[in-house]
Parts: sequence; C-alpha cells; structure tokens
Amino acid sequence: MYDLIIIGSGPAGLSAAIYATRAKLDALVIEENYVSGGQIINTYEVENYPGFSIISGFDLATKMREHADSLGAKFVTESVKEVELEGDVKKIITEDNTYETKAVIIAAGASHRELGCPGEEELKGYGVSYCATCDGAFYKGKDVLVMGGGNTAIEDAIFLTRMANKVYVVHRRDELRADKVLQDKLKECKNVEMVWSSVIDRIEGEGKVERVITKSKKDGSERTIEVSGVFIAVGITPKSDVFKGKIEMDEGGYIKAGEDGVTNTPGVFVAGDIRTKPLRQIVTAAADGANAATSAQKFLS
Ligand code: NAP
Repeated sequence: MYDLIIIGSGPAGLSAAIYATRAKLDALVIEENYVSGGQIINTYEVENYPGFSIISGFDLATKMREHADSLGAKFVTESVKEVELEGDVKKIITEDNTYETKAVIIAAGASHRELGCPGEEELKGYGVSYCATCDGAFYKGKDVLVMGGGNTAIEDAIFLTRMANKVYVVHRRDELRADKVLQDKLKECKNVEMVWSSVIDRIEGEGKVERVITKSKKDGSERTIEVSGVFIAVGITPKSDVFKGKIEMDEGGYIKAGEDGVTNTPGVFVAGDIRTKPLRQIVTAAADGANAATSAQKFLS
C-alpha cells in the first residue's frame, strides 16, 4: 500500500514526485513512456521557464527527472488501464499490476488534437505529423505546411524554417493566438507564407503527402498547396478517458479542481494540463505538482 501514486511524469508529475519524496511520503510515479517529461520532450526550445533563458524541452525534462531520482523517487513504466478512486484504499490497475494507495495525483497530461479532415488518418506517418521536432529533419529543403495559430504551431513553424525550403502557416482566423514574442520571431523568418482565415479541407497524395487543399473561411474558395509535410498543431486534448465517470470533469474532459488540486473525490488530486486551468505552461504544471503533493500530504496527515 503506497501513501501516494502519481499518474504521469510530465513537469506536473515530476514536481509532485519531488515534493512528495521530500515530504517522506511513500510515493510511486506511474509513467506511460520510458522517457519522462510528457509533452515537453518534443519542444525544441523552452524560453520561459525561470532559471533557464533557453533550454531544450528534452534537457529540461531530463533535469527534472534527475532531480526526482536524486531524492529517491520511485518510477514504473506502465500504462494505467483502470482506476478505482472511491474509499480509503484506491486501486490503480495497469496491464501488469494492481497498485493500492491512500491518495492519488492525476498528472496524466494531454496529447495533440487531430483535425479530422480527409487524408489525415491515411497519411499519418507518411507526411502528416503532430511533432515538428521529431519529424522536421525529414523535410530538409522541402515545402511544408503547419496548421494552427497557437504557441505550438508558431514554435513548430519557426523550427521548420531552419530546415525546410518554405513553410506555409494556415490559420483559421486573421490573427494569431500565439504569444507576441513568437509572432515577432515568425515575422523575421523569410521563408514563411501565412495563409490566413483558412482551414485544411483535405490532404492528398499517393502513399505520401503531395498537396493540401485549403478552404477560405471568408469566401469558401479553395487553394491547392504543394507540400511534402503537414504539421498539425490545433491544440491539445486531456488524456482523461480512463478517469471518465470516476471524477468530476468539464465538458472538454479536463478534471475539475482549483489551484490546490483538490478534486470532488477525497484523496484524489489533479495537476498539470489535465486540470481545468487558465494557463497551460511548464511553469504552471510544475506549480500544480507542488500544490497537489502538498494537498495530498495534508490529506494523509
Ligand atoms: P492552443 O493554444 O489551443 O492553439 C490551438 C490553435 O489551433 C489555435 O490557433 C486554434 O485556432 C487552432 N485550432 C483549434 N482547432 C482547430 C481546428 N479544428 N481547425 C483549425 N484550427 C484549429 O494549442 P497549442 O498551441 O497546442 O497550445 C496548448 C497549450 O500549451 C496552450 O495553453 C499554450 O499556451 C501552451 N504552450 C505554451 C508554449 C510556450 O509558452 N512557449 C508552447 C507551446 C504550448 P483559434 O486561435 O482560432 O482558436
């Protein structure tokens, strides 16, 4: 029987592990992937985490994991299949084990949202990608397209300008959502063409991406753009399916809790991108982990 099980090892889960081990709780982190860090391992450059003017997401995640390891945090790499969160003894069931614990921190994070247009599913892995830092190098000297206007899309576009011949950025409005600092950086890139107020209607190609057909939101007109790669960055969706019906969520599947991470289920806390919150950043995920571990500690004592 553990004091605390932390589900997820992104910045929220790792921060919770650091706080929990320092509080001498018998805690276990269950992580899905062999590399800790969650979404940030695919972030090329992080420029807004205090203490590091610039650091790769992978390096930051590695430092966080090493910090947790240095304090003696325990990790297993397993995928959570089912949870029983009611009562004093909570059960976390993976494909290999059933873990019992007095408290749980859900820090399972979020993953990329899909677009749902024709061609996306068929050409996934054949030119359709959701990770510019993972796949960008395949498009050296080629033309690519990024869909989206948020921080991820614009960071991806800037990253891709360094290797691609040309980067089209398609956005459904005529104003970007991304932070101003990123917008300014994008403007400095010479090989970018903005395709405003448009969406991807379909992605086409014989066995690999060859072209994207965009549709104007203003007049419905179509445009064919010849590209070898399509990077879709249209937001994130919480990885909360396994918790559905077990804990209170909003309509988007985010688990409801305030800054303290306290949910409607006693002994169950939530931290990071999977929580209802106004700002999803590495620093707010790390803060969530600290808050949730402190709330769990109070609950246990
Ligand atoms: P996001 O901020 O939700 O942006 C998603 C973008 O995709 C928006 O521009 C949105 O358009 C567009 N979009 C959504 N659904 C669409 C659809 N069906 N068709 C076409 N376009 C669609 O998502 P994100 O960029 O992945 O970022 C997720 C979170 O992580 C955010 O809180 C973000 O601030 C944070 N983040 C921060 C950093 C950083 O600080 N450096 C880096 C990456 C991510 P609209 O603008 O019209 O809604």
